[in-house]
Formats: sequence, structure tokens, C-alpha cells
Amino acid sequence: MIHSKLEEVINQQINAELYSAYLYLSMAAYFESVNLPGFANWMRVQFEEEQFHGLKFYNYLISRGGRVKLEAIEAPQFEWKSPLEVFEHTLEHEKHVTALLNNIAEVAEVEKDRATRNLMVWFIDEQVEEEGNAEKIINELKMIGGEGHGMLMLDREFSTRVFTPPVNA
Ligand code: MG
Repeated sequence: MIHSKLEEVINQQINAELYSAYLYLSMAAYFESVNLPGFANWMRVQFEEEQFHGLKFYNYLISRGGRVKLEAIEAPQFEWKSPLEVFEHTLEHEKHVTALLNNIAEVAEVEKDRATRNLMVWFIDEQVEEEGNAEKIINELKMIGGEGHGMLMLDREFSTRVFTPPVNA
């Protein structure tokens, strides 16, 4: 049976992952409203990925004999000034998620819970990719000044993104 402190932080993380999903779905709706369907698709994939993360924690907690407790999900931001602002928000949000995951890893260390520590290795590695993706897109948006032909090309590129659940998960 999992330690109650870990049960608590994992329950909080289920909420944080589902909030992330909700935030990215709101960003997808913003991109639809400014006629960038490819960017909207990119965020929709992000939405699916975050639901997957939430469920991974949900399944893990149950497999360890813990009790899942779902809480209210906060309403996400509705409006952004520009695509660049959306991705700066994404990067800032992912850094916050990384800090939450590092905290779970620390609690797992203290409680000598190696299974949870191993799970956190997967999630923390995933964060390197999440932050890297946002940084890359921020750089590209700055390079093209957020308009014109460059935006059209990026929108086309982002329209091809698909969600593929990791095989080892
Ligand atoms: Mg996540």
C-alpha cells in the first residue's frame, strides 16, 4: 500500500495533468478563433497527451492500492494576445509541472518508495521534451515575427502532428 503522503501528491498531480489538458484545449480554441487550424491541432494533441498523463497517474495510484480522489478542475485562461504569448505561457506552465513532478520524486525519496521514484523518472524525462518543444516553437515564432508566410508554413507543419501513446507506457 502506498504511503498517504504520496497518495496525496499523486492525487494533486492527477488534477494538475487534467488542468493542463483543459488549458491546452482552451489554447486550441483560441487558435481556431484566429484561423490557425494547424496550431489548434498541435494543442489538441497536447490535450490528449495530458489526459494520458492524468490517466497514467490514476492507474498507478490504483495499482498501488491507493484511492483516487478527483477534485474540481480550475477554469483555464480564455484569451491570449498572440501565438507567441500562448507558447510562452505553455513553457511557463510546463516549468511549473516539472517542479511539481520533482516534488513527487523528492517525497518518494524520503519515503524510500522506489516504484514511485521509477515512475517519476519517466515523467521527468518527458518534461525535458515538453519544455524543449515549447522553447523551439517560441524561437521559431520570434524568427518569423509571428506573421506572413512563415506562419502559414508553421500552421501547415503543425496540422500533421498526431498523438501516439508511448509503447513502454
Ligand atoms: Mg503532463
